[in-house]
Amino acid sequence: MNNRPIELEVTNLCKYFDAGKKRKLKAVDDVSFVIHKGETLGIVGESGCGKTTCGKTCIGMLPKTAGMVKYKGKDVHSMSKKERFDFTGKVQMIFQDPYASLDPHQKVYDIIAEGIRIHKLAKNQAEEERMVLELLDMVGLNAEHAMRNVHEFSGGQRQRIGIARALAVDPEFLFCDEPISALDVSIQAQIINLLMKLQKDRDLTMLFIAHDLSMVKHISDRIGVMYLGNMVELAPAAELYKKPLHPYTEALLSAVPIADPRASRERRKIMLTGDVPSPVNPPAGCRFSGRCKYVTEQCMKVRPELKEIEPGHFVACHLHK
Ligand code: SF4
Repeated sequence: MNNRPIELEVTNLCKYFDAGKKRKLKAVDDVSFVIHKGETLGIVGESGCGKTTCGKTCIGMLPKTAGMVKYKGKDVHSMSKKERFDFTGKVQMIFQDPYASLDPHQKVYDIIAEGIRIHKLAKNQAEEERMVLELLDMVGLNAEHAMRNVHEFSGGQRQRIGIARALAVDPEFLFCDEPISALDVSIQAQIINLLMKLQKDRDLTMLFIAHDLSMVKHISDRIGVMYLGNMVELAPAAELYKKPLHPYTEALLSAVPIADPRASRERRKIMLTGDVPSPVNPPAGCRFSGRCKYVTEQCMKVRPELKEIEPGHFVACHLHK
């Protein structure tokens, strides 16, 4: 039970795209969750499950089709220009690909200083310089890096620059869109550790998108699992790993590497069969029904609702009443 105030409240959110011939691609379909102040919610799922679209719609980067997203009680999709400007100072994004999200020919100093200038956070040039150097130090870089161009840096260093840029406006909420998936495995843990430290030091609230369950466990307080536009399970991170309830979560977890070679040998990997259905024409009942070994007739006809099965543990599956 989290007693801190709700920072982001997402209710029955839908985001559809036009797929031609009057058809809709239902990227996010009736998704609800909350994130409390200082909490990190991880959302995982295969490519195309709608997790990034969900995150972008939550922070107003994409218009919604239906439902409601509130940040601190304010509707994200109907803000005035002034409210939107203030919102962009509080809510920042860390992008998936640090090679694509930063201009390779720009100086690191200017990239980090941009948000400080837009939001008029420094009283003078000296204060701006002090802020940029502090931010570089915070993400493990130094003053010597400030005047170099982005193309001189490795992927891990570029992601540190991206994090410093996001932190420059002193945000309260970070949307991290698969921030480690473009990086070498050896660098991934460094970036996760950095984000965890910053989250703790600054009491940040985070929405962290990932495509698998291996790294997200370490950073998340709770984890939501998405499949074909639906949230199929949502639980505290440790509980989800210990006791996954949805057959899809079970399959995802069976693919997570285990450090202990014996445990790894003994574990049975669940191979999913069948193709992921099209989000343009999803199955009528449970969207996982075509790949689920427990499927029943009811599953094919009736869409399971996300229900709280145990305190804080929600699942959308007819196996769990
Ligand atoms: Fe499988 Fe049925 Fe549960 Fe869907 S509702 S995950 S098909 S058992």
